[in-house]
Amino acid sequence: MAITPDTKMDLLISLCKRRGFIFPGSEIYGGFANSWDYGPYGAQLKKNIRDAWWDRFVLRRGDVVGVDTPIIMNPKAWEASGHIATFTDPLVDCKKCKRRFRADHLLEAKAAEPGYDKEKPVDLVGMACPECGGTLTDIRYFNLMFKTFVGSTEDTTSVAYLRPETAGGMFVAWKNVRDTMRKRLPFGIAQTGKAFRNEITPGNFIFRTREFEQMEIEYLCRPEDAPKAFEAWLGEMKAWVTDVLKLDPSHVVYREIEDADRAFYSARTVDIEYMYPFGTKELYGIANRTDYDLSRHQEYSKEDLRYLDPETGEHILPFVIEPTWGLDRSVLAVLAEHLDIDDAPTADEGDAEPRMVLRLPPLLSPVKAAVLPLQKKGGLSEEAHALADRLRSEGIAVEYDESGSIGKRYRRQDEIGTPWCITVDAQTPEDKTATVRDRDAMTQERIPIADIAAWIAERLRT
Ligand SMILES: [Zn+2]
Repeated sequence: MAITPDTKMDLLISLCKRRGFIFPGSEIYGGFANSWDYGPYGAQLKKNIRDAWWDRFVLRRGDVVGVDTPIIMNPKAWEASGHIATFTDPLVDCKKCKRRFRADHLLEAKAAEPGYDKEKPVDLVGMACPECGGTLTDIRYFNLMFKTFVGSTEDTTSVAYLRPETAGGMFVAWKNVRDTMRKRLPFGIAQTGKAFRNEITPGNFIFRTREFEQMEIEYLCRPEDAPKAFEAWLGEMKAWVTDVLKLDPSHVVYREIEDADRAFYSARTVDIEYMYPFGTKELYGIANRTDYDLSRHQEYSKEDLRYLDPETGEHILPFVIEPTWGLDRSVLAVLAEHLDIDDAPTADEGDAEPRMVLRLPPLLSPVKAAVLPLQKKGGLSEEAHALADRLRSEGIAVEYDESGSIGKRYRRQDEIGTPWCITVDAQTPEDKTATVRDRDAMTQERIPIADIAAWIAERLRT
């Protein structure tokens, strides 16, 4: 059994459900389109990625500070950012089957058809519904922001929005961060959190969902330093992809966005794409947003948002480099990249059978080690419980499992990506050692129980 791009998503989605990573949302009520529940392992995997990000880009740097701003902000902020006016998707409806499509997606699909003439721009004229061949309506623009009402009255004065990105909160908090943190340019403001977009297009599992989590940095610098800061952050993003997520660099595409295709305020944008099983699509992005956001918020808030250079006495409106990471897409890329099937020896000497394994980087694995007594009798349960407690007290995420054959228990841990299985056997009560099995190398090593916590901690650091 081998994994092909065609079968990979189905294998992944079924493993995620079977093993408690990701479930269909609202399933007992018949589901809810594009919504997913992160189960216990999925939530921990996601948290481990978020923690690794915060650790790397906030705690270990002197030039980035973290904030946590609200999902519902003063709606003026979205007027200033341009989201109320222009954050729209062009939509068309089929008059016959009533399905709704994104016009740009229909155009893309047409442009990808054989015989397409690049010189001739495609348009929707004469295009029929791809599902039933019915007539399409004219294009209408549909704002992607979720609207809600604040307070007890549902009228226009109480309209507010769920944030469509985390960035807005950081621009709005900039004045207070500037005034309290005594940071010199260049420096960044970081935030992780949920953002909301009323997407109509089907999602490809957790790739596109109406609510999703972002990890973003607004890195403020003098205008002349922006190109250098952009390069530095692009380098940081490349290092994150290979060092933390352990994605093969050949599976990641860095796409420089041409002048004509960039947002008008952006001086440079690079899309970072991953080769998902369903195609090469966006993972992250980085943009030089110039002073667009701060100048707009300055104009709308009437507050002075400039930075006073303590050395030169100059007042400057900083430029902003914005590296953005999608957290759910990070989870998806990590799962897709590290899902594997190999041949594992069975209990019978010499035999091998296919084994499904998630080769997650140990730092990201939801469970670091499983403690498995070979049998319950002979005091092995007690020995194994004591070892599991000891590892937990050292802050290592451990699972204890004594039910079923050892082969089945290994198999379960392989599928949830546990890097090490510790087997407590008849020798353990005698010499206080246990066997540590490596998920990838499939090697077994006898280690004194007293040393196992340090042995694992050392491997989590690399
Ligand atoms: Zn139709």
